[in-house]
Amino acid sequence: MYDIQKIREDFPILSREVYHHPLVYLDNGATTQKPRQVIEAMVNEYYSVNANVHRGVHFLSQQATELHEASRETVRRFIGARSNSEIIFTRGTTESMNLLAFCFGEAFMKEGDEVIVSTMEHHSNIVPWQLLQKRKGIRIQVIPMNDKGELQLEEYKKLFNEHTKLVSVAHVSNVLGTVNPVREIIRIAHERDIPVAIDGAQGAPHMKVDVQALDADFYAFSGHKIYGPTGVGVLYGKEKLLDAMPPYQGGGEMIQRVSFEKTTFNTLPFKFEAGTPDYVATTGLAKALDYVSAIGMNQIQLHEQELTQYAMQQIRQIPDIHIYGEAEQKDAVISFNVGKIHHLDIGMLLDRLGIAVRTGHHCAEPLMQRLGIEGTVRASFALYNTKTEVDQLIAGLDRIAKMF
Ligand code: PMP
Repeated sequence: MYDIQKIREDFPILSREVYHHPLVYLDNGATTQKPRQVIEAMVNEYYSVNANVHRGVHFLSQQATELHEASRETVRRFIGARSNSEIIFTRGTTESMNLLAFCFGEAFMKEGDEVIVSTMEHHSNIVPWQLLQKRKGIRIQVIPMNDKGELQLEEYKKLFNEHTKLVSVAHVSNVLGTVNPVREIIRIAHERDIPVAIDGAQGAPHMKVDVQALDADFYAFSGHKIYGPTGVGVLYGKEKLLDAMPPYQGGGEMIQRVSFEKTTFNTLPFKFEAGTPDYVATTGLAKALDYVSAIGMNQIQLHEQELTQYAMQQIRQIPDIHIYGEAEQKDAVISFNVGKIHHLDIGMLLDRLGIAVRTGHHCAEPLMQRLGIEGTVRASFALYNTKTEVDQLIAGLDRIAKMF
């Protein structure tokens, strides 16, 4: 039983009004709202536990460390990783991908080596590779997609050659909503002994992820897109690969011994976690994962799928609508334009009705180039959205379409 009213009551912000309209928050792809349970856990930690983690002899430091490491265990369980050593806390998906590109690049790539990404990547899975390209002279290969917004796996297979070192693709497109066949993408790469990294920023919040079942070599996601706080994210990596990679940043926490002659590094995962971690945010993230787990990721996915299908049916009725992303496997994101109306105008007019959507290129300019457009309006759904909110979006769009 999916008790949407009860769920909505957990999110205080959802009862806000915007321009005298009840808030309809459909910008969940950018960030999700936070349940009371997450906010309170973080406030409580600042009120009664706060102390820097690791190596503290005093009571509070030990308690803060226990909370922080328990959060790592919660993340491990949530994504089905084998060991806590494989869970690196970062600031978010962007930092996870930069860490990956830098450290994997240092360890395993040289001039002329290649990474395979896809047309629908977020800039955070493009630009870090371009930085590596500048530094080391690697090459970037791109999996093309069809007009429905699905990756072309036959073309993907043709991109492998003796220079290929890694495949790095999005689990779910933040623009098209396409759920990429990552299991198949990984299987194809592994047949050729090539590891695969998954940008799960839009995957983990919407479906059950099991990194071992997927056999993903790396998996990245952000706390704030899964009802947790900003400033924290995760990079999962297989221990064998992480062990072979050099540190990302130097400083406290990541070392074993330091002298001016020779420094040795800490064990996993601390080798990749220089400096004081955001241990209050990791508590918040763990609370968020507990929260979604209690509802059930499969239940959440069912709810969001139903909502997306309903919204797709309704939105097709809008005159002159153009929808980007009609993949068979599509989740929780709808990008569109209406006639010749600028996406920004639609976003601003919807805002006046209390409806929050995102407009622009969504940090996916190469995808916009493939689609031949400047930008779109994007409505993206979360576990607390309702059909009534979809109806409000449609009524708003109908009004705007008629106005123009
Ligand atoms: N990848 C994808 C697919 C995303 O949607 C986003 C966020 N829009 C990111 C990466 C970057 O996430 P963050 O800004 O939390 O680092």
